[in-house]
Amino acid sequence: MSSTVQRTLSILKPDVTQRNITGAINAMIEGAGFKIVAQRRTQLTRDHAAKFYDVHKERPFFRDLCAIMSAGPVVVQVLERDNAVHLYRELMGATDPKNADAGTIRHAHGKSIDENSVHGSDSLENAKKEIAFFFQDSDIIS
Ligand code: GDP
Repeated sequence: MSSTVQRTLSILKPDVTQRNITGAINAMIEGAGFKIVAQRRTQLTRDHAAKFYDVHKERPFFRDLCAIMSAGPVVVQVLERDNAVHLYRELMGATDPKNADAGTIRHAHGKSIDENSVHGSDSLENAKKEIAFFFQDSDIIS
Protein backbone atom coordinates (compact mmCIF):
# COMPACT_ATOMS: atom_id res chain seq x y z
CA MET A 1 0.00 0.00 0.00
CA SER A 2 1.26 3.51 -0.76
CA SER A 3 0.83 6.10 1.99
CA THR A 4 -2.43 7.58 0.64
CA VAL A 5 -4.11 4.19 0.21
CA GLN A 6 -6.54 3.29 2.99
CA ARG A 7 -8.63 0.28 3.93
CA THR A 8 -12.18 0.41 5.25
CA LEU A 9 -14.56 -2.23 6.58
CA SER A 10 -17.78 -2.75 4.65
CA ILE A 11 -20.71 -4.96 5.60
CA LEU A 12 -23.43 -5.92 3.13
CA LYS A 13 -26.38 -6.30 5.51
CA PRO A 14 -28.94 -9.15 5.61
CA ASP A 15 -31.40 -7.23 3.38
CA VAL A 16 -28.75 -7.55 0.63
CA THR A 17 -28.11 -11.29 0.87
CA GLN A 18 -31.86 -11.88 1.21
CA ARG A 19 -32.55 -10.10 -2.13
CA ASN A 20 -29.54 -11.61 -4.02
CA ILE A 21 -28.06 -8.17 -4.75
CA THR A 22 -24.55 -8.82 -3.41
CA GLY A 23 -23.22 -8.78 -6.99
CA ALA A 24 -25.08 -5.59 -7.90
CA ILE A 25 -23.62 -3.79 -4.89
CA ASN A 26 -20.14 -5.19 -5.49
CA ALA A 27 -20.40 -3.86 -9.06
CA MET A 28 -21.10 -0.37 -7.65
CA ILE A 29 -18.18 -0.71 -5.22
CA GLU A 30 -15.74 -1.88 -7.90
CA GLY A 31 -17.13 0.62 -10.42
CA ALA A 32 -16.31 3.40 -7.96
CA GLY A 33 -12.66 2.33 -7.89
CA PHE A 34 -12.48 0.26 -4.72
CA LYS A 35 -10.58 -3.03 -4.67
CA ILE A 36 -12.29 -5.75 -2.61
CA VAL A 37 -9.17 -7.13 -0.92
CA ALA A 38 -10.96 -9.50 1.50
CA GLN A 39 -14.52 -10.81 1.59
CA ARG A 40 -16.44 -13.42 3.59
CA ARG A 41 -20.09 -14.38 3.89
CA THR A 42 -20.99 -15.05 7.51
CA GLN A 43 -23.86 -15.14 9.98
CA LEU A 44 -23.63 -12.82 13.00
CA THR A 45 -25.13 -13.84 16.33
CA ARG A 46 -26.95 -11.16 18.31
CA ASP A 47 -24.03 -11.05 20.73
CA HIS A 48 -21.56 -10.62 17.88
CA ALA A 49 -23.66 -7.77 16.44
CA ALA A 50 -23.94 -6.16 19.88
CA LYS A 51 -20.16 -6.30 20.32
CA PHE A 52 -19.58 -4.80 16.87
CA TYR A 53 -22.09 -1.96 17.47
CA ASP A 54 -21.05 -1.38 21.10
CA VAL A 55 -20.75 2.41 20.49
CA HIS A 56 -24.52 2.49 19.87
CA LYS A 57 -25.54 0.53 22.98
CA GLU A 58 -27.32 3.47 24.63
CA ARG A 59 -29.26 4.40 21.46
CA PRO A 60 -32.99 3.58 21.29
CA PHE A 61 -32.58 1.59 18.08
CA PHE A 62 -29.78 -0.66 19.44
CA ARG A 63 -31.92 -3.77 20.04
CA ASP A 64 -33.54 -3.52 16.61
CA LEU A 65 -30.14 -2.96 14.98
CA CYS A 66 -28.68 -6.11 16.59
CA ALA A 67 -31.77 -8.13 15.62
CA ILE A 68 -31.63 -6.93 12.01
CA MET A 69 -27.89 -7.51 11.65
CA SER A 70 -28.28 -11.09 12.88
CA ALA A 71 -31.47 -11.87 10.92
CA GLY A 72 -29.62 -13.46 7.99
CA PRO A 73 -26.22 -13.79 6.34
CA VAL A 74 -24.00 -10.74 5.88
CA VAL A 75 -20.99 -10.21 3.63
CA VAL A 76 -18.04 -8.62 5.43
CA GLN A 77 -15.38 -7.10 3.23
CA VAL A 78 -12.27 -4.96 3.27
CA LEU A 79 -12.18 -2.24 0.61
CA GLU A 80 -8.99 -0.54 -0.50
CA ARG A 81 -8.28 2.65 -2.44
CA ASP A 82 -6.98 6.16 -1.82
CA ASN A 83 -9.12 7.98 0.80
CA ALA A 84 -11.23 4.79 1.15
CA VAL A 85 -12.93 5.64 4.45
CA HIS A 86 -14.42 8.94 3.33
CA LEU A 87 -15.11 7.88 -0.26
CA TYR A 88 -16.97 4.73 0.82
CA ARG A 89 -19.17 6.81 3.17
CA GLU A 90 -19.97 8.97 0.13
CA LEU A 91 -20.77 5.93 -2.03
CA MET A 92 -23.03 4.50 0.72
CA GLY A 93 -25.14 7.66 0.98
CA ALA A 94 -27.17 9.00 3.91
CA THR A 95 -28.17 6.62 6.74
CA ASP A 96 -31.86 6.99 5.83
CA PRO A 97 -32.22 5.91 2.17
CA LYS A 98 -34.97 8.56 1.77
CA ASN A 99 -32.24 11.19 2.15
CA ALA A 100 -29.57 9.43 0.07
CA ASP A 101 -28.34 11.09 -3.12
CA ALA A 102 -28.82 9.51 -6.53
CA GLY A 103 -25.88 7.31 -7.44
CA THR A 104 -25.35 6.04 -3.90
CA ILE A 105 -25.83 2.43 -2.77
CA ARG A 106 -28.53 3.35 -0.24
CA HIS A 107 -30.44 5.39 -2.83
CA ALA A 108 -30.34 2.48 -5.27
CA HIS A 109 -30.95 -0.38 -2.85
CA GLY A 110 -31.77 0.76 0.73
CA LYS A 111 -35.22 -0.24 1.95
CA SER A 112 -35.47 1.80 5.18
CA ILE A 113 -33.28 3.39 7.86
CA ASP A 114 -32.76 0.02 9.54
CA GLU A 115 -32.51 -2.04 6.34
CA ASN A 116 -30.14 0.32 4.60
CA SER A 117 -28.01 -2.32 2.88
CA VAL A 118 -24.49 -1.32 3.90
CA HIS A 119 -22.21 -0.45 6.79
CA GLY A 120 -18.94 1.43 6.35
CA SER A 121 -16.36 2.53 8.91
CA ASP A 122 -16.69 6.20 9.92
CA SER A 123 -13.01 6.95 10.63
CA LEU A 124 -9.60 5.50 9.84
CA GLU A 125 -9.15 4.57 13.50
CA ASN A 126 -12.48 2.70 13.56
CA ALA A 127 -11.70 1.09 10.20
CA LYS A 128 -8.59 -0.50 11.71
CA LYS A 129 -10.56 -1.80 14.72
CA GLU A 130 -13.48 -3.04 12.59
CA ILE A 131 -11.22 -4.81 10.08
CA ALA A 132 -9.45 -6.54 13.00
CA PHE A 133 -12.88 -7.59 14.37
CA PHE A 134 -13.50 -9.75 11.28
CA PHE A 135 -10.18 -10.39 9.55
CA GLN A 136 -6.60 -11.42 10.17
CA ASP A 137 -3.84 -9.68 8.21
CA SER A 138 -3.25 -12.88 6.22
CA ASP A 139 -6.90 -12.81 4.98
CA ILE A 140 -6.29 -9.52 3.15
CA ILE A 141 -4.72 -9.81 -0.30
CA SER A 142 -4.11 -6.48 -2.04
P1 GDP B 1 -24.30 4.77 9.44
O1 GDP B 1 -22.86 5.06 9.80
O2 GDP B 1 -24.84 5.63 8.33
O3 GDP B 1 -24.54 3.30 9.19
O4 GDP B 1 -25.18 5.17 10.71
P2 GDP B 1 -24.92 5.03 12.29
O5 GDP B 1 -23.52 4.54 12.58
O6 GDP B 1 -25.36 6.30 12.95
O7 GDP B 1 -25.97 3.91 12.75
C1 GDP B 1 -25.72 2.52 12.54
C2 GDP B 1 -26.95 1.89 11.95
O8 GDP B 1 -28.01 1.98 12.89
C3 GDP B 1 -27.47 2.59 10.69
O9 GDP B 1 -26.87 2.14 9.49
C4 GDP B 1 -28.96 2.25 10.73
O10 GDP B 1 -29.21 0.96 10.13
C5 GDP B 1 -29.24 2.19 12.21
N1 GDP B 1 -29.81 3.47 12.65
C6 GDP B 1 -29.18 4.65 12.80
N2 GDP B 1 -30.02 5.62 13.23
C7 GDP B 1 -31.23 5.00 13.35
C8 GDP B 1 -32.51 5.47 13.77
O11 GDP B 1 -32.72 6.63 14.11
N3 GDP B 1 -33.52 4.53 13.77
C9 GDP B 1 -33.31 3.23 13.41
N4 GDP B 1 -34.34 2.38 13.43
N5 GDP B 1 -32.11 2.77 13.00
C10 GDP B 1 -31.09 3.65 12.98
